[in-house]
Amino acid sequence: MEYAGTDVLELASQQALAYLMGLPERPVGATATPKQLRSLLGGPLPARGIPATETMGLLEQAAEAGGVVASSGPRYFGFVVGGTHPVSIAADWLVSAWDQNSGVHELGPAVAVAEQITAEWLVDLFGLPKGTSVGFPTGCAMAHVVALASARHHVLAKAGWDVEHDGLQGAPEVHIVVGAQRHLTIDLALRYLGFGTSRVIVVPSDSQGRMRVGELRKRIAKLDGPIVVCAQIGDVNTGAIDPLDKICDIAHEREAWVHVDGAFGMWAAASPKLRRLVPGLDRADSWASDAHKWLNVPYDCGLVFVAHAEAHSSAMLNQRAGYLPNAAAEKRDPIEWVTDFSRRARSLPVWATLRTLGREGIAEQIDRCCLLARRFAGRLREVPGVEVLNKVALNQVMVRFGDDDELTREVIKRLQESGQCWFGGTMWNGRAAMRISVASWQTTADDVDATVSVIQQAFSEARAAS
Ligand SMILES: *Cc1c(COP(=O)(O)O)cnc(C)c1O
Repeated sequence: MEYAGTDVLELASQQALAYLMGLPERPVGATATPKQLRSLLGGPLPARGIPATETMGLLEQAAEAGGVVASSGPRYFGFVVGGTHPVSIAADWLVSAWDQNSGVHELGPAVAVAEQITAEWLVDLFGLPKGTSVGFPTGCAMAHVVALASARHHVLAKAGWDVEHDGLQGAPEVHIVVGAQRHLTIDLALRYLGFGTSRVIVVPSDSQGRMRVGELRKRIAKLDGPIVVCAQIGDVNTGAIDPLDKICDIAHEREAWVHVDGAFGMWAAASPKLRRLVPGLDRADSWASDAHKWLNVPYDCGLVFVAHAEAHSSAMLNQRAGYLPNAAAEKRDPIEWVTDFSRRARSLPVWATLRTLGREGIAEQIDRCCLLARRFAGRLREVPGVEVLNKVALNQVMVRFGDDDELTREVIKRLQESGQCWFGGTMWNGRAAMRISVASWQTTADDVDATVSVIQQAFSEARAAS
């Protein structure tokens, strides 16, 4: 049988392969201007369409014009993005080809069951309590929303308030306690959930960005009523890990809910070597993480875990529509654990990647990235004038060039323009710094060494020019 899309799918596969093969060589940063891209991709919507292969040709041109960031390549060290394992891309293609509406088991049994298996594997891999419920939202930001909605349900139910039914107006006040170095997405989730951002109680951090537990104790002692504490493992700048064991001691004494932002830091628990860095991880009440960062699957895939499945499911789909099939115990409906209704099978690439790497392969990838981050720090410390600002806890390094914000920014700019690697800037304790994040399966020790030479050169040129 002829399929009408054979030519365009074959073309897409060739384009994808050409892109992936050329990834290590292509300029890392994007160079195309919005104007160039508009002239390639824009114009008014034509009345009559064009052949699909021509449409794909336009995308190829956009990539060739420098409109694509080689962020899944080996020398992208900006933010914490991570690459994509080949099998995760392959599974992602099938997700589109199968086009399952994977919210409900009945609409896609294979992807629903694969998601359930993936959920069980992840609970086991991270050492979370038995019975922990799992959802696959679009990213860690939405994982916070799901987890904190579950927290809101739980602490208010204990105070005799049904938040799903009666809303927040007139409810007992929920005290939200956060660390000073929390990620912006915690604030966003709090906003979406009606907690506001100005009422949060902020616990100061230490020099590495870890929550100071003595300060947490003092602040919690003054509170009355329901409490939710947001901790973090893996600060985006330093990689620092909050002392979860102590945080859980203090919070649970007051029956507070402990939520953990482990967008990338959670993956330390998947490595037998690094697991000791996250003691007390299993004692929290909810966890938000990402598969699309350190596991290296395509966007969009976050992970949310809740130790109180009932709170999780109550906060999400607690009233099933009449036309939805009833969930039997052995038929897990993905819809019950996230905010989406219709959705793609975003857990399938996770299933495929975990299955392909295995426990050892996953641990090896996490260990290697951390080792390479330490290699970066070690090499850069040897360069006169370069200061490494953090203790390298995981895969994050922060460096500064000379004692000068401008010089540091200039080095970053030169590196971004070099096309050979990509780093972003940040402010740390009031000083400009360059962030290094190692999160791709493709990055090797040679990439690190070659990049350190590029950094050295950019530094000396920037210094000469200043
Ligand atoms: C990336 C990140 C987030 C947000 O995750 P998304 O997947 O981008 O929504 C939250 N917290 C931390 C610590 C992060 O690094």
